[in-house]
Amino acid sequence: MSDNFDSSGTTPSRRHDAGTYQMLWDCRFCGAEKLLGITHRHCPNCGAAQDPEWRYFPAEEDMIALEDHEYVGADKICPACGQPNSAACTYCGECGADLATGEVAQTRGERAIGTGVAESDTRRDVVQDQFVAEMQRVGVMKGPRTGGLGLSRRSWIIIGGVLLAVVAAIIFAITYRKEASGTVDRLEWARTIEIEDFRARAGSDWDESVPGDAYNMSCHERQRGTERVQVGSHQECRDVDQGDGSFRRQCNTVADYEQRPVYDDWCTFTVDRWDTAREVEAQGTGKNPAPYWPEYTLATATGRYGEEREGSRDETYIVVIREDDGDKHECELDDMAEWEKYSEGASVSLKLKITGGADCDTLKIAE
Ligand SMILES: [Zn+2]
Ligand SMILES: [Zn+2]
Repeated sequence: MSDNFDSSGTTPSRRHDAGTYQMLWDCRFCGAEKLLGITHRHCPNCGAAQDPEWRYFPAEEDMIALEDHEYVGADKICPACGQPNSAACTYCGECGADLATGEVAQTRGERAIGTGVAESDTRRDVVQDQFVAEMQRVGVMKGPRTGGLGLSRRSWIIIGGVLLAVVAAIIFAITYRKEASGTVDRLEWARTIEIEDFRARAGSDWDESVPGDAYNMSCHERQRGTERVQVGSHQECRDVDQGDGSFRRQCNTVADYEQRPVYDDWCTFTVDRWDTAREVEAQGTGKNPAPYWPEYTLATATGRYGEEREGSRDETYIVVIREDDGDKHECELDDMAEWEKYSEGASVSLKLKITGGADCDTLKIAE
């Protein structure tokens, strides 16, 4: 018997391969430890029947492989005497009772090994566990009643409450508006026109994006990004209790990846293009004179380059408001017609955000 319990006391550096191994169990009657789930259906010391409750996964050094183990299912517990029987049996080997109504033995579930080894067994204090479970059942002790992450339901309620309060505060801050009134301090406007010219322009881009009419091109290799490359693989294992005194070690091959740089051709070149050369602007305060577009003269080309043309136009209309308490706010309006409704000194009302800034969408002439 002692052969099976031989342990050198050092954790093996090598992991056992995938396969079927014996669960271990302790005898609750005589205290014999590390009995084998398949080999020892009874305690070799005192003869007591194996109790599936007392099974556990062995440490790596205590793993005993099972050759040609035929798995027929988790053990069935005899409804008459409580003895675990192979799922293949119809009658209890101990007392002869019919096993049809026998419950299936509870398993110890799974244990993840990952890339390491099983450093210790999963033995637990069955007597203590059963005592606690019984006390919780009759209400003497409170269960941990956890809701995830090891936090109690009470903690979750508090966290949920705080989150709700924060969300409510954010919504309040965003939507908060305070009524304010004031007068128009002044009206401002600005109108700009972009002037484009035709020139040779420097450009740079990846090889495939260089324009077809580019010239003076020069390219060199440069890192464009990274790619995920498989560089190898490793095994990750887990042990699954089969409920019949054995467990299966399952190992999966997991690919290892690395980010590697990807290179491509980056080119600098010259192209002849129209582009913004300068801007002409007209600006003023008040409605008199009315806003107008700036005047300009376009250059004409003497050679291939230098010709000018008009580009895009832009106009800005601003109402500056002086609040009754002296604070000033600037509101940019969408179009001139809207802006023209305001006059210097006119009374206006508007709403202020929680930061004190104006919500210009609410600006209107006071009635
Ligand atoms: Zn025993
Ligand atoms: Zn029985």
